[in-house]
Amino acid sequence: MEKIIAYTGYKKKDFSACLGCKICASVCTLNDFSMHANPQGLLLKILLGDNTITDDPLIKNCVSCYRCTDACPWQIRVPEVVRAIRETLELSSPFEKAFKGSISIWGRVYEPYIFMNAIGFLIKNGYLKHLMKWTEYISFHLPHKIKRI
Ligand code: SF4
Ligand code: SF4
Repeated sequence: MEKIIAYTGYKKKDFSACLGCKICASVCTLNDFSMHANPQGLLLKILLGDNTITDDPLIKNCVSCYRCTDACPWQIRVPEVVRAIRETLELSSPFEKAFKGSISIWGRVYEPYIFMNAIGFLIKNGYLKHLMKWTEYISFHLPHKIKRI
């Protein structure tokens, strides 16, 4: 647990700053898909040293969208906590790999690349039934033209 906390960039006492308001859970993208994600609960597990941390749905499914951080009164960086757990426990996430691959190749998050690289995982785990809902979030950008003044 000490190693996980060190990777988060927070100190253990920082986790007690969480207000327990669950605004993070109310905006979490995973809950748009009824996945019962609770970022506040994950932070509490870390504070209490709860070893069931690996069973938390966020560890498998968090997509690092930072919606929770954006809405949190303390701007707590939950996705970085999730990443610290994944890195420490060497838990692979196809989304994480796809994001990293996209950044290293394109220098940005490129949705088609991420989708194609995570497609096997999506099919295997039955996520394709959510495809129509996902299309509300996916946007395919072409490079913007530079405005000449
Ligand atoms: S970053 Fe993860 S925990 Fe936060 S809203 Fe997005 S999916 Fe939920
Ligand atoms: S929104 Fe922030 S302060 Fe509120 S429960 Fe979630 S992590 Fe804690």
